[in-house]
Amino acid sequence: MNTGKTYLITGGAGFIGSHLAEQLLQQGHRVTVIDDLSTGSEKNLSKILGRPAFTFIVSRVSACPELEKLVARTDVIFHLAAAVGVKLIIEKPLYSIRNNLLETACILELACKYKKTFLLTSTSEVYGKSPSHSFNEADDLRIGNPHLSRWSYACSKLMDEFMAMASWREHGTPVVITRLFNIVGPRQTGRYGMVLPRFVQAALENKPLTVYGDGTQSRCFCHISDSLKALMQLTKGEPPLGVGDVFNIGTDSEISIADLARKVITLTGSKSEIEFIPYEKAYAPGFQDMMRRKPCLKKLLARTGFKPETALDQIILDIAQSLSPR
Ligand code: UDP
Repeated sequence: MNTGKTYLITGGAGFIGSHLAEQLLQQGHRVTVIDDLSTGSEKNLSKILGRPAFTFIVSRVSACPELEKLVARTDVIFHLAAAVGVKLIIEKPLYSIRNNLLETACILELACKYKKTFLLTSTSEVYGKSPSHSFNEADDLRIGNPHLSRWSYACSKLMDEFMAMASWREHGTPVVITRLFNIVGPRQTGRYGMVLPRFVQAALENKPLTVYGDGTQSRCFCHISDSLKALMQLTKGEPPLGVGDVFNIGTDSEISIADLARKVITLTGSKSEIEFIPYEKAYAPGFQDMMRRKPCLKKLLARTGFKPETALDQIILDIAQSLSPR
């Protein structure tokens, strides 16, 4: 008898979603992915396409004719479909805002109707320009000037969080809210601005690594395999472990972007140089970066026992291997 569960992953052809789908199938579950392939790719699913327990639907969430039927027979929904990457958000703010708000509203309504476990992937961007050294889920948030497109992403994701939380409070829908902090690994594309795949790709080609600003801004990079453990753990149990609450997901080991560039060059044995580029040239005039972005992981640890395990050197080597010509 198959004791596996049924999962629905929106945005499942993306970097995180495709790894999640693989893991769940490996654990004996049934998985359906809905993805409009706007930023995801069918290639990401090549290992699992054709498996009997896997279904792939190419569609926007809101345009999927079978959506209600799918939600009705699913156990857990991972809602990952969203506009991704700072570059894309700045280039297409209206598309990004609409996408983040409308698609979430659509699937959340069905999750409420059928009382399904619903995990929302929000973002560390919501902490905005908070001066805190370690972002805590209970912190007040400090979003930048609304005339700068960048912050529309944080606001749209925050509204998703509000919608999810209201669904829990008003309807008892078992929602789990996660804020992802710089999740990285094989398959992530640098096309939408993500720094690590861009650096590794450039290093492998002995091309300059472009550091924006003075490179003192820092981030904490968490391997996809670690973050998947946290995501899956939070949806386990009846009610799910993370129900009605918000959790940071990431690692708290921090590195400046200039040091990251040096590390990538050393570990890949590259001949690349580092080029410093002003923010306004890299993005848009008036661009505001987050100078630090480090999660407090106490709540996640207390609830799930989760601790990130993969060191940054290993992460870089892993990405380099996936990008190297075979
Ligand atoms: N960044 C950079 N060079 C690049 C891409 C990004 O210096 O080619 C910087 C970017 O300005 C930011 C950091 O790297 O300070 C992380 O950028 P990413 O877009 O990966 O993530 P986020 O800003 O969302 O943390």
